Amino acid sequence: MLTQIKGLHHVTSMAADAQENNDFFTKLLGMRRVKKTVNFDAPDVYHLYYGDESGTPGSVMTYFPFPHIAKGRRGTGEVSETAFSVPVGTLHYWRERLSLAGVEGVKADEQFGEARLRFHGPDGDGFALVEVAGDTRAPFDGGPVPAGKGIRGFHGVTMRLRDADATAQLLAFMGYREIVREGALIRMGLENGNGADVIDLEALPNEGRARESAGSVHHVAFAVENREAQAEVRRALLDAGAHVTPVIDRNYFWAIYFRTPGGVLFEIATNEPGFDRDEDPAHLGEALKLPDQHAHLRARLEGTLPALAD
Ligand code: ZN
Repeated sequence: MLTQIKGLHHVTSMAADAQENNDFFTKLLGMRRVKKTVNFDAPDVYHLYYGDESGTPGSVMTYFPFPHIAKGRRGTGEVSETAFSVPVGTLHYWRERLSLAGVEGVKADEQFGEARLRFHGPDGDGFALVEVAGDTRAPFDGGPVPAGKGIRGFHGVTMRLRDADATAQLLAFMGYREIVREGALIRMGLENGNGADVIDLEALPNEGRARESAGSVHHVAFAVENREAQAEVRRALLDAGAHVTPVIDRNYFWAIYFRTPGGVLFEIATNEPGFDRDEDPAHLGEALKLPDQHAHLRARLEGTLPALAD
């Protein structure tokens, strides 16, 4: 069993409209845009990162906005819900805030004894706010949400799978342990993680496969401290038969990827070097940052990427 993985690092999804996406996360949810760059593999679209003050691993929601793409279809083989941690006693505030903004799918319930407020993102994305006791992570306090009510980072994600057991075994190999089973749900958790410690697996053996497009999670990334820990995880996954990519430099972290048996794309990302490596921490996310390999495209990209107001 591996011990290097410390929880989630980031979750990356697809959107249809960059401005709408930006406003949802910064103006409504009160997160900070910590990076404005492009998809390194397809630089004609943005890659937008939202998180806490510095973009701490475990708090970072990222998006590829592809203008005008259709909505994805929910199904199996995907992350169906991304849950953020908020302080106990704040869901009433959030319910009112989201409802006033016309957010769809706002619904309060309880799961595994935790109060949860579920809602949809602009493209039908599945989100939840969960009241988590004892989460000491600091929310971003420079946005419109009071710090005492703010999002502290991820609580976890839910994956919908035809066969949940294969992914449960993989997560156990990665260092997670089964916490509880309830109906079709398995909760896996990590001890001594970064706070984004929970993975819920929902078994739906007869459900069709998801079609990935706007509102779909593209991949989920797990955090390791550094490149050495990442190399250890990569070796162990290769030995276990996973088809893992070489290490890829993503400027703000190093990444490896592999497709899981359940169909979800996993990434293992390093906590180093972080989002302040190419801009002043006071101005994270303001200017368009390009990696060296795409720097020569700046003039063209500034002309073709949609304008994006703060
Ligand atoms: Zn990623």
